[in-house]
Amino acid sequence: MKVSLDRSACIGCGVCTQISPECFVLDENAGTAKVLREESDDPSVKEAESSCPVSCIRVE
Ligand code: SF4
Repeated sequence: MKVSLDRSACIGCGVCTQISPECFVLDENAGTAKVLREESDDPSVKEAESSCPVSCIRVE
């Protein structure tokens, strides 16, 4: 699966980094999350996508 994230919409809540720490990390300077791994077959990335409060994660 391809993982992407619209950082302009991200509010930096950290939910995705808790659910899928191997794919997402908080960028403290920017105050947003960023994608660590753009390719993953781990089901946690789908959970992160559906759990993001502003729906800015895309997994396809
Ligand atoms: S769950 Fe969504 S809003 Fe929260 S840090 Fe991750 S991408 Fe940003």
